[in-house]
Amino acid sequence: MRHLSRRDFLFAGISAPAALAASAASSLPLVDYHVHLNPSFTLDDAVALSAQRGVKFGIAEHAGTKENKYRVILSDDRELEQWMARLEGKPVYKGIQAEWLDWMSCFSKETVARLDFVLSDAMTIPGPNGERLMMWLRGFDPGDPQEFMDRYVAWNVKVIETEPLDIFAHPTWLPAPLDRNYDALWTPERMKPIVAALKRTGTAVEIDSAYDIPRMPFLEMAKDAGLKFSFGSNSGAGPANAMDFCLDTARNLKLAKKDFFVPAPRARKPIMRRRAVS
Ligand SMILES: [Zn+2]
Repeated sequence: MRHLSRRDFLFAGISAPAALAASAASSLPLVDYHVHLNPSFTLDDAVALSAQRGVKFGIAEHAGTKENKYRVILSDDRELEQWMARLEGKPVYKGIQAEWLDWMSCFSKETVARLDFVLSDAMTIPGPNGERLMMWLRGFDPGDPQEFMDRYVAWNVKVIETEPLDIFAHPTWLPAPLDRNYDALWTPERMKPIVAALKRTGTAVEIDSAYDIPRMPFLEMAKDAGLKFSFGSNSGAGPANAMDFCLDTARNLKLAKKDFFVPAPRARKPIMRRRAVS
């Protein structure tokens, strides 16, 4: 990365200690694979901020059937191609944030494989009647915490096993009512099947500076399993967030360049190499 003064680091949203630690940790790939555009953060804004921070951005648009309620949702090959064309020639990775279990039905494999990455999370869960519950929205009631966790672990595994993802985003995220009990709820027995599913499918683990997750026990389990990691800040309504948590975590976990996700060649993309799960 280019040389930045302390003031520049602060301005860029990366604290000087974190950035220096990252450079000391020897050429960790400074890529934020979880950046979304929005009306107040355009593609030009993203390109400028990326240059200023010395962090490459992977920009993801939501994708899946029109049943998923987002401001923009790419739902067929033509829309996906338009998205890629928009990013073509820009110094960014091209991505999608895939929605629900059925997004693959919207696109041809070959078109998806032209993306640099596909990420998704387990934050939308089926309700009692199969409806899509966005658990981050105010008012979501998880019910009994232990019952919820068992259902949620199974849902995480289903998402990872069903969807051909490059990156699993927001791992171990919990809805607001449960978040304060994170350490007690995320027992090793609950983390293990998720790590195993990531391992089986060759899916990378996002280190998420939007929610500062996963915490160390999960990360250590993921590292021991030989999983790859990516950084993600999940810009919401504003510009891309800072990555301090990602860089601190990489240092604490002693990650090296070899531990990081890099976009696979087209023929080795998950959408090409993984068999469809019915
Ligand atoms: Zn996102």
